[in-house]
Amino acid sequence: MKKNRIEKDDPLRDGYSRVIDYLRLSVTDRCNLRCIYCMPVEGVAPWRHVEILSYEELTRIVGIAAGLGVRKVRITGGEPLTRKNITFLVESIAKVAGIEDLSMTTNGVLLERYAQELAGAGLRRVNVSIDSFRPERYREITRGGDLAVVLRGISAAEKAGLKPVKINMVPIRGLNDDEVEDIARLTLETDWQVRFIELMPTGSLDFWSPDKYVTTDDIRKRIEAIAPLEPVKVRSKGPSRYFRLAGAQGVIGFISALTHHFCSDCNRLRLTADGKLRPCLFSETEIDLRSPLRGGADDAEIARLLKLAIEVKPEGHTIGSRAEKGEAPGCGTSGAAARKPMSRIGG
Ligand code: SAM
Ligand code: SF4
Repeated sequence: MKKNRIEKDDPLRDGYSRVIDYLRLSVTDRCNLRCIYCMPVEGVAPWRHVEILSYEELTRIVGIAAGLGVRKVRITGGEPLTRKNITFLVESIAKVAGIEDLSMTTNGVLLERYAQELAGAGLRRVNVSIDSFRPERYREITRGGDLAVVLRGISAAEKAGLKPVKINMVPIRGLNDDEVEDIARLTLETDWQVRFIELMPTGSLDFWSPDKYVTTDDIRKRIEAIAPLEPVKVRSKGPSRYFRLAGAQGVIGFISALTHHFCSDCNRLRLTADGKLRPCLFSETEIDLRSPLRGGADDAEIARLLKLAIEVKPEGHTIGSRAEKGEAPGCGTSGAAARKPMSRIGG
């Protein structure tokens, strides 16, 4: 993708002096899998097409955000590759002046089909979510997914230059946490960035319970029992902390939403597929962009709302301490918004 660098940036800062330069766009709440911790088996009644933002609306928002200092965009969902003609959106966003990094989080099911055209359209990298490398278990966790298809998707992504591939894995006690060491070892023979993510109390709360999540410290200890981990600097900002096994090509990252607050390094805003800006993953505050966009708001008004979302970005969340006490997750009082499935928030 060409570098759309805008010189002389004035970074956008929130009330806690964090530079906000990253926008995560959820483009759909639909998904072709039903991961047990994310969605109920019957799915979630999807938003109608008119309820979700059009590609033109999304590209307009990205353009305005880039004018304010946003440099990185990640497309997510739901499953972003299930949205029709997604390559068109990638191409449109890649052309926005100021956007220097465009990536996607996907379950990889459709990656084999789309990798080449996504790369051609300007996508830089993909994160692929795989919670087990054992086919039967993968099928169980995703309620029907075929691991072989996803692995072919990763090969296609690498062939297309969407590298290095990041693998997102959510360890769940008693279900797949015995694979942590094997998955860490994959970095010895691949250049993958394997990231272990603490299970968060969102979405399928029927599934979540405090005894199911495995802490980053626990995962680290298990990996360090097979070989020492040396810290590596992969990038300056963001929630992951990266390490390498001696001699490995790839790296291992930890994302601890619950046990170690990553909030002090948070550099992002989220936009849900139905056009709500979320200052924090666990926010109850949402700022509606869809109504003003469709009501004829000019760019200055949309910019004002983007700045407002940054102004009200909370310093941190309390899901970790609440979860331990068995309370509802969320930054605010009831935690109702955090109980939305990740497929709706945009994970
Ligand atoms: N469908 C795509 C995928 O699975 O990569 C993109 C959307 S999915 C909501 C994004 C990420 O959120 C996935 O890596 C998934 O594992 C993660 N996720 C969903 N629910 C989660 C939860 N309760 N705790 C931790 N991670 C979660
Ligand atoms: Fe779909 Fe991703 Fe949620 Fe799994 S984690 S159900 S692939 S949105």
